[in-house]
Amino acid sequence: MVIGAGVVGAACAYYASLAGLSVAVVDRGPVAGGTTGAGEGNLLVSDKEPGPELDLALLSAGLWRELAGELGEQTEYEPKGGLVVASDEAGLDALRAFAAHQGTAGVESVEIPGARLHELEPHLAPGLAGGFHYPQDAQVQPALAAAHLLRAARVAGAEVYLGEAVTAVRTGPDGAILGVTTDRRRIDTPAVVNAAGTWGGEVAGLAGVPLPVLPRRGFVLVTEPLPRIVRHKVYAADYVADVASGSAALQTSAVVEGTPAGPVLIGASRERVGFDRTLSVEVLRRLAAQAAQLFPVLADVSVQRAYRGFRPYLPDHLPAIGADPRVPGLYHACGHEGAGIGLAPATGLLISRQLTGKQPELDLTPFRADRFAAS
Ligand SMILES: Cc1cc2nc3c(=O)[nH]c(=O)nc-3n(C[C@H](O)[C@H](O)[C@H](O)COP(=O)(O)OP(=O)(O)OC[C@H]3O[C@@H](n4cnc5c(N)ncnc54)[C@H](O)[C@@H]3O)c2cc1C
Repeated sequence: MVIGAGVVGAACAYYASLAGLSVAVVDRGPVAGGTTGAGEGNLLVSDKEPGPELDLALLSAGLWRELAGELGEQTEYEPKGGLVVASDEAGLDALRAFAAHQGTAGVESVEIPGARLHELEPHLAPGLAGGFHYPQDAQVQPALAAAHLLRAARVAGAEVYLGEAVTAVRTGPDGAILGVTTDRRRIDTPAVVNAAGTWGGEVAGLAGVPLPVLPRRGFVLVTEPLPRIVRHKVYAADYVADVASGSAALQTSAVVEGTPAGPVLIGASRERVGFDRTLSVEVLRRLAAQAAQLFPVLADVSVQRAYRGFRPYLPDHLPAIGADPRVPGLYHACGHEGAGIGLAPATGLLISRQLTGKQPELDLTPFRADRFAAS
């Protein structure tokens, strides 16, 4: 059974159901009521350096392409590509080195000289030094993607219980999983998948093991509907450093993207302030100013709304994926921080491989939940 009906839990349920397993999903709220409904839908390889997270992202990029065909147009999947820009030569040199390193791991990118940036993005600010186009970057509507993954899992036989909190994870005398108890029922099962996102540490705690998942807050600005003035996912070179930073302090580096419905999304900030939901005008102002620096045309556009969410952050920025050696039958699929939409299909597939005793496509050692035990 899967705890959590966000995009990660939905992907786990989808692949496990298709593998022929009998699956139940429990969420205390609605589908995508956690961070999945409060983020953007960037499916990025461009912001990741070679390593386990990029391997996951590349596997996922291919799976999202397949899913787009299987789940239908409603997920708003767009293989639009990313464009990372640098304002000066030093920034462009850094991008060049980063892209060359990524190329060794299978990331495709093409350098775009400053004079040609407007062929890709006609409304981009003049005078930028240049950038890199990443054709493997894509976009999806996260809440719709989660809902359609779950719908497909249900068609394959999965049961979904919403508005029902898991209050206990039951284990036997040998420590192995026996099932869970919710505020409405008892589910007996030999396997529990912890896909509780930012609350993954609490669920691990119910099973008696620590997992240090913390919230990392982010705001997103949503403009009024506009014609397609932003064609790719566009961001400045600083974004990569912000994503990789472990600092609790506020970081903003705008990622700008158009949507099929018209509004432009401007995300996102990063800060560790617990679950504080207070609206921060300062953060919104910084995001808006950075977006207008990239696309001056946005300076005169109205913002329709802003929302915030809490990324599930683990101290080394890698998710916890796979069997927990401390509790037989407990599997983790949480802690994906700012990349959970992108990484969901690979996570679901790898979990289903372990559940069915098959060899996973990737080595799961870097994602083991007990890697924090000594700290
Ligand atoms: C501002 C912002 C922008 C983002 N942009 C992107 C982006 O562009 N691309 C990207 O890939 N990622 C992005 N992310 C990150 C992404 O949204 C998350 O990594 C992802 O949504 C995590 O999904 P999840 O399914 O693990 O968690 P969630 O969606 O939070 O799902 C976990 C579920 O578990 C349920 N749950 C918890 N405890 C219990 C319990 N005891 N019993 C029952 N149910 C329980 C919750 O109700 C919740 O529905 C962004 C995040 C933010 C905040």
